[in-house]
Amino acid sequence: MAHTPRRALVTGGSSGIGRAIAQSLARDGCDVGILYLGDLTDADSVRSCIESLGRKTWVKVADVSDAQQATAAVEDCAGELGGLEVLVNNAGICRDQVIWNMTDAEWQDVIDIDLTGVFNMSRAAAPIMRAAKYGSIVNISSINGMRGKFGQTNYAAAKAGVIGFTKALAKELARSTVTVNAVAPGMIHTPILDAMPPEAIKKATEEILVGRIGTPEDIAEAVRFLCSEGARFITGEVLRVDGGQYI
Ligand code: NAD
Repeated sequence: MAHTPRRALVTGGSSGIGRAIAQSLARDGCDVGILYLGDLTDADSVRSCIESLGRKTWVKVADVSDAQQATAAVEDCAGELGGLEVLVNNAGICRDQVIWNMTDAEWQDVIDIDLTGVFNMSRAAAPIMRAAKYGSIVNISSINGMRGKFGQTNYAAAKAGVIGFTKALAKELARSTVTVNAVAPGMIHTPILDAMPPEAIKKATEEILVGRIGTPEDIAEAVRFLCSEGARFITGEVLRVDGGQYI
């Protein structure tokens, strides 16, 4: 029997993959809150899209790397929507640099947002899901956290950390009927690619077996499934969604 209602919070839901995830969960019947840092216009258009699907929404600017802001956002969103059954930790940045030129800030910003942000949000959501004895947490990792990538010691470390975190948290929350999984995208067409040199994009595309860069919707569909009733027996899993780029 489907668990209804489902209330979801998607971090970084204003742009790229997070935006597609928020829309896909709303189409699947969830009320969806989003938090983000950045352009209000983007967030407003996601809000309109969720509302046009007849779902409730909650939209806030908050920094996932700040524990206080993350906790307040989770509590506020759950209060506004009436509960929280789904958390998608999608917010992320990259600051690519070879290690001999990497600054402390380039290292720390990526670890703080891409890894500590996942911890901050999950720690705040866990008590709500444990009390309800129901929930799904999906963390967005990356195939580069599984295989490393030149110029990404910071990002690969954070995204590999997300995989270990996912498995440990799956063990802690399983008895509360809360699943915890990760999705590891390959190269996906979003604004994050703007920072990538064109020749690096061309080289990466050549590695993708299906012969194209992924779309945000390719990732959103995997996340939607992992948050659905059909996936209640899946926990601690890392699902690569990469068109065969990793193998
Ligand atoms: P994007 O730049 O389009 O979106 C990033 C989102 O994160 C934005 O909504 C932004 O507001 C939000 N954000 C950034 N810092 C934040 C902070 N401190 N607090 C709250 N929100 C913050 O990027 P995207 O490509 O859609 O990436 C989404 C996720 O997917 C990231 O975790 C990224 O590492 C991962 N990923 C992307 C690709 C890709 O090729 N695009 C591949 C693998 C993994």
